[in-house]
Amino acid sequence: MQDDARSSRSLAQISRRRFIASTAATLAAGAAGRVPAFAQGPSRTLIKGGVVLSFDRGVGDFDKADVLIEGSKITAVRPDISAQATVIDATDMIVLPGFIDTHHHCYQSALRNVLANGLLSDYFRDISGAATNHYRPEDAYIGNLIGALRALDAGITTITDLSQVSNTPEHSDALIKGLKDSGIRALYAYSRGSGAAAKYPGDVERIQKQHFASSDQLVTLALGTAVNKEQWLLARRHGLRIFTHVVGGNPGVGPDEVMKLGDEGLMGPDNVYIHFTNASDAQIRRIKDTGGSLSIAAPIEMAMRHGMPPIQQALDAGIRPSLSSDVETTMAADMFSQMRSVFTLQRALINERSIKGEKNLPPLLQSRDVIEFATLQGARTDGLESKVGTLTPGKEADIVLLRTDLFNTLPFNNAYGAVVTAMDTSNVDTVFVAGKAVKRAGKLVDVDLASVRRQAAASRDYLVGRLGWPRSVIDTSISGH
Ligand SMILES: [Zn+2]
Repeated sequence: MQDDARSSRSLAQISRRRFIASTAATLAAGAAGRVPAFAQGPSRTLIKGGVVLSFDRGVGDFDKADVLIEGSKITAVRPDISAQATVIDATDMIVLPGFIDTHHHCYQSALRNVLANGLLSDYFRDISGAATNHYRPEDAYIGNLIGALRALDAGITTITDLSQVSNTPEHSDALIKGLKDSGIRALYAYSRGSGAAAKYPGDVERIQKQHFASSDQLVTLALGTAVNKEQWLLARRHGLRIFTHVVGGNPGVGPDEVMKLGDEGLMGPDNVYIHFTNASDAQIRRIKDTGGSLSIAAPIEMAMRHGMPPIQQALDAGIRPSLSSDVETTMAADMFSQMRSVFTLQRALINERSIKGEKNLPPLLQSRDVIEFATLQGARTDGLESKVGTLTPGKEADIVLLRTDLFNTLPFNNAYGAVVTAMDTSNVDTVFVAGKAVKRAGKLVDVDLASVRRQAAASRDYLVGRLGWPRSVIDTSISGH
């Protein structure tokens, strides 16, 4: 009977989705993947009886506790809450803050895995130097939409998008629309594009006025920059956080160039440095001394020859980094991959020194540390610590529920350890963004997967056709593919 009720409701939803998909297909920016819910649920939700990891030392972590959500906010975190609310049974679940990915180029999502064996040089040749030139606004839109939906599906509730495809103002608008339609919390870090019609960074004022009039919205604005004084000053004139790729050994973008801006007093707490590889200890310490943040993309840095991820240098300097996925053309964009990579890498580095006889070594990273990197430190990096990053009453309810009763974690013995050393995205059961359930019982809510799939494939077909790449999924004839 319940099944009957469900199927008649889903039929109604399907026809509405079809309608939206066919209507929106005629729009330049493509169709929305997320359909607004028909009925507003009650504004109070009680997540009951889960293992609660708040990542707020004042609140604490619990073997068993409840989390109360009212509207968009968390209002209580403790055992045995009673309230008139929709109850979500969190038995056999870990309840923790949503993951935060502090650096991702979402627009490339339709080109997932094309450069699975690629180095940076392959990336410059094929992605930033070729594919990006062919993007239409609708490709930018669907790339950002599926990048953001993939993130939500993986329990990432906040993403920093540095889509370097602002080839025209319409491209920037489409990128923003893709993020907004997904329902994710995002920093849209407006970045460069390619071609003669690119207006970066001069279009920032229009973008800010048109799309970001309020600071109290899910998607907010930042600036993705080069190591460039004028761009940093422009960001500051507009009150925007500054996200900058820094890769030592590459001309113009290394730590040496950053230090020159530092010498002019331009390194500050609004700077986020991505990668920061091949730096000296003193250069890393300067990030700490000037209050800046670090975003480490360990799997990408290791696979693509950016240099050794500076995890130990950062820890030695007293920096707690955030983690980021970077490009899905080469690597998975979930935070389980990120956490496991940085955890095993730091321990490998320290263990090797121990085996060689070194004494008084820095501490080994613990599981809890890397979950904190993927949550609280992400919020700090994105300048969103007052809103998200911990389960703290008063903060926005960005919450993830992870199943502990699946084959990869049963029987369940260690909360931090299971998250970091055992789980993957199949454990992500429920995801809330600002108190709204965007994933329930392992499925994204109100997303028309068939429509999203069609648009993604159409965009991929167009781009790959323009690029003249082989259309076989087993052809590895181009270097890095
Ligand atoms: Zn990047």
